[in-house]
Amino acid sequence: MDNEPAESAVTAERYVTALREELTEPRDKECLACYVSRMLEEFGCDNHLRWVRRWRDACAPRATALERRMEEKGGFCDCEVAYNVYPEQMLYDDAADLPPCKGVSRRGSTLPCRDDAGR
Ligand SMILES: [Zn+2]
Ligand SMILES: [Zn+2]
Repeated sequence: MDNEPAESAVTAERYVTALREELTEPRDKECLACYVSRMLEEFGCDNHLRWVRRWRDACAPRATALERRMEEKGGFCDCEVAYNVYPEQMLYDDAADLPPCKGVSRRGSTLPCRDDAGR
């Protein structure tokens, strides 16, 4: 039995990776704030700017100062970004209550879609 095919395990692993990639893919024109809150809801925080980086790479690769800007506002990890940088977007405890992202007007914009809320 030294020739037991590991094929199915490999395939399953690839499938999971692909699925994960797809699940964590920012939606079309989804803003950073909505994306981060959605990912936190699904996958939680790993004490890094994991979702901020993922969004930046996918949506605004030229926004190289994004992480520094988040840190300047007190966002040293994804959940701190949610609570300190975009508090008005993060009032929803339940993902079901989360309104859909209105979308950013221009791809690459790092502004949240509800930036004018309450101001
Ligand atoms: Zn955190
Ligand atoms: Zn949004």
